[in-house]
Amino acid sequence: MVDAKICTYLSEAKSNAACYICLAKRTEMNDLKQVGLKKNSADMLAFGLSSLHAHINIMECLLHISYRLDLKKWSVRGKAEQELKDAKKKIIQDRFRSELGLLLDVVKQGHGTTNDGNTARRFFENPVKTASITGLDVELIRRFAVILQTLTSSEAVDIEKFLVCALKTETRTLLKLQEPEFEFRDVSQLESDSELDTDNDSESDLE
Ligand SMILES: [Zn+2]
Repeated sequence: MVDAKICTYLSEAKSNAACYICLAKRTEMNDLKQVGLKKNSADMLAFGLSSLHAHINIMECLLHISYRLDLKKWSVRGKAEQELKDAKKKIIQDRFRSELGLLLDVVKQGHGTTNDGNTARRFFENPVKTASITGLDVELIRRFAVILQTLTSSEAVDIEKFLVCALKTETRTLLKLQEPEFEFRDVSQLESDSELDTDNDSESDLE
C-alpha cells in the first residue's frame, strides 16, 4: 500500500486535493455525473486504495458537516458563526467521549489529531448511535459504513451493485433531504480549488 501523497506525486494530479486516479479536482467532486465521465488511470489504480485513510477521511468529512448543522451552511464567516460551530463541535466531542469512550478530532501536539483507524472503525460500527450524536441521517452513515466495509473486504464484490450503492450515497443529496436549508458553497462558481475553505485540513498544493 502506497501513501496517497506519494501516489499524487507520481500521478499527473497538480494538487493533493485532486484525485490521483481520475484527476478530478475538488471543484468537480460534488458532481457525480462529471466524475463518472473521467477516465481512471490503470497505472495509478495499481497502487491500490488505502481503506484506512478512506475510513478516517470520510469520518472527518461527516464530523465537519455535523459541526455546521446549526449554521445550515458550509462556510463559517465571522466570530459569531465560528463560536456556534465550536460550541456544536464541543457538544459532539463530549457525547462521543462519554457515550462511546471515543476521543474524536482532538489536535495532538505535533502529531495531527486523535482521529485514527481505530476511532474511525468505532465511528462507523454503530450507525444509530453515531447518527444520534452527530445529528446526521442514519442512512447516510450506514451507507458509508457499507462502502467502507466493501473496500476493506477480500471477498469478490458485485461491482454493478456496489456502483448503485455508492451513487445513492451522494452526501449533498442525502443532506438536502435531511436539512433542506443547508447551503453548500456552490463550488462550480469558483475560479480555482484554492478558493475553497480548507478548514483545518493539511492539504497543500504541489508546486
Ligand atoms: Zn477519482
